[in-house]
Amino acid sequence: MSTSPILGIDLGTTHSLVGVVDCGLPILLADEDNHRLLPSALFVDKDGQLSVGRAALHRRELEPLRLITSAKRLLGRRPGESDWQPPYDLRALGQSPVSVAAAILRRLREIAEFRLGQPLSRAVITVPAYFNDAQRNATKQAAKQAGLEVERILSEPTAAALAYGLNRAQGESRIAVYDLGGGTFDISILRLRDGVFEVLSTAGDTQLGGDDMDRLLAQRLNPQQPDCPRLIAAAESAKRTLSTQEQARIEIPFYRGAEHLQAEINRAEFERMIAPLLERSRTHCLRALGDAGLKAAELDAVILVGGCTRIPAVQRLVAEVFGRPPDMSQHPDEAVAMGAVIQAGILEGSLRQVLLLDVTPLSLGIETYGGLMNVLIPRNSTLPCKAGEMFTNAVANQGEMLIRVLQGEREMAADNWELGRVLVPLPAGARGSARVGVQFSLDANGILEVLARDTHSGEDRILQIENSAVDVSDERVEAMIQSSVEHAFEDMHQRQWTQATMKSRELLEGLDAALSELGPALSAEQAAPIHAAAAQLRRLLEQQAQDLQALKQANQRLDEVTQELAVMLVERALEQAGDLP
Ligand code: ADP
Ligand code: MG
Repeated sequence: MSTSPILGIDLGTTHSLVGVVDCGLPILLADEDNHRLLPSALFVDKDGQLSVGRAALHRRELEPLRLITSAKRLLGRRPGESDWQPPYDLRALGQSPVSVAAAILRRLREIAEFRLGQPLSRAVITVPAYFNDAQRNATKQAAKQAGLEVERILSEPTAAALAYGLNRAQGESRIAVYDLGGGTFDISILRLRDGVFEVLSTAGDTQLGGDDMDRLLAQRLNPQQPDCPRLIAAAESAKRTLSTQEQARIEIPFYRGAEHLQAEINRAEFERMIAPLLERSRTHCLRALGDAGLKAAELDAVILVGGCTRIPAVQRLVAEVFGRPPDMSQHPDEAVAMGAVIQAGILEGSLRQVLLLDVTPLSLGIETYGGLMNVLIPRNSTLPCKAGEMFTNAVANQGEMLIRVLQGEREMAADNWELGRVLVPLPAGARGSARVGVQFSLDANGILEVLARDTHSGEDRILQIENSAVDVSDERVEAMIQSSVEHAFEDMHQRQWTQATMKSRELLEGLDAALSELGPALSAEQAAPIHAAAAQLRRLLEQQAQDLQALKQANQRLDEVTQELAVMLVERALEQAGDLP
């Protein structure tokens, strides 16, 4: 099993980010130039050499058609299926949507390896909530090409909700995540219940985002050539300025040969320009609410993410649609990536302290024959989870099976905490004839349900144990883990001793049964070593000091000297079978 940290990755249409849980804290990682945002851009030069991110954007001006951006819109779609036509020809550049995504992921992995100084190979990657199977699979395929194993695909709004801390809320809550990025707009309504996120509805527009605003601005500056890269870049910069200033100045030196382009635009004019775009987002919000069957007032929060939610007019629109000020506690560019990192931390168990709800702090199991702890759900398992095993009767005609549900890290049942018991009545039968399936299901709230099923009768017995995962205070959990470490050696001895004594009892019982059947047929010479070995074994079992080595040897000795007896038993059985009519 690999123990390298799991990366959290936001593979965005416009920007991508990578992070990791470090010393218990989720952090995002910056490249060599201290940038955390990696433009999702790839430049393919004439020799097929690739550059990714800012380096790729720098080469846009000279050879715009060699620059690949927004390729996420093509991911997992057949050629021509996307409603968006890229200005570049992917095939001519020797690329595919998957290979572009892979190049971006490879670069993110490189940044993380540079920062952490170790090879990394596992990741949680976010995708839009509306991504279908083909699009999710294409994302996984890209990860594979980039040398990353995908531990979990997480939907972007769920990631934003994780960053917001929704998983720590009590009871049930509902939130809307309003995400206005570079190329796409997504609105999702989520419900969190029992620690599980559910996307109730999602709506949006894959043709609505900051790029459209940039184009409108560029059009206003130069209606003849709105697609000119320098013009678009200047428009984008003006748009950003207008999020905090009332006025923006646009200056492009030597725009056309010797001619400079100069212009001024104020916020009110910009807002008038983008009003139709924002109106479209309003319609999607209302549709998402309708699909979720909710009124805006029933939401607990409306979270803003995506670079364009910095625009004051966007914030005003959201407040108006949802009838409340939106929650702006999350970093608009980083919330989704942060959520991916948190999910990665939960998966690797490094966020246990912060998110106790999401993992079992201690192992859960049942007592088995001989007083041993049989673990069904190991500690640090992510919730919700399920595990089961089949048990049988240890002696003939046992009558009932007592299932003691235990929690703790010690080898012996008696050293762990008992959470409850279930009694399963058994039909009369030989040893090993009963079949009782025991299943533990732990829901996201840490409520343990124990189901015991007698597979012969099909009868179920169910025991519910509240808060098995969260009821224990941190100190008690720490103490339990500490004591399991301190007693590890002792515990191991105890487990081996118990197993050896179980073996002894089994051998002695078998011997008694064989002797009662074949005893008279044995010569004194044959009987003597058997009786001696059995006596030695009984002595060791009764002895106060547990001599594990001696007991194991005595088991082996008895096993050896009864070989002949076993052969005789088999022959006798065959003879009797031959006598049958
Ligand atoms: P994506 O999720 O599609 O990768 P992002 O969430 O990174 O997109 O958003 C990118 C968009 O946000 C771009 O259009 C960018 O111009 C815009 N943006 C970034 N900062 C600002 C700002 N301060 N004001 C307005 N728009 C901004
Ligand atoms: Mg995004």
